[in-house]
Amino acid sequence: MSPVAGRCECGAVAYEVTGPLRDVVACHCTQCRRTSGHYSAYTSAAAADLTFLRADGLRWYRSSDSAERGFCERCGSNLFWRPLAEPLRISIAAGSITGPTRLSVSRHIFVADRADYYAIPSDETQCLGW
Ligand SMILES: [Zn+2]
Ligand SMILES: [Zn+2]
Repeated sequence: MSPVAGRCECGAVAYEVTGPLRDVVACHCTQCRRTSGHYSAYTSAAAADLTFLRADGLRWYRSSDSAERGFCERCGSNLFWRPLAEPLRISIAAGSITGPTRLSVSRHIFVADRADYYAIPSDETQCLGW
């Protein structure tokens, strides 16, 4: 399996994933809406399978008591989400992956927080929580 690569818009953060990626989870919570500008779409990987090729732009924002979000301080790209209590996995913004992801959206979470200007496709799984 060839590694999946991704990066932020300016290139100050770049990464490679050598292991399997989870299907994409779309999160409609208010934190994801604010930080992404819409709703978030994250895949995830084992933290051990993620290698940074460049990380000089990477900064972490503590978005709650239990998690932090990685972003590029130069271009503002949202890139990562990780729970502080479970550092073995890391969520990766699906839009930062370069080229075909071969993934699909598996479910939508925190759908009660959805904004009113878009609809969630009715054939995709919707969850009130995680
Ligand atoms: Zn950047
Ligand atoms: Zn969220």
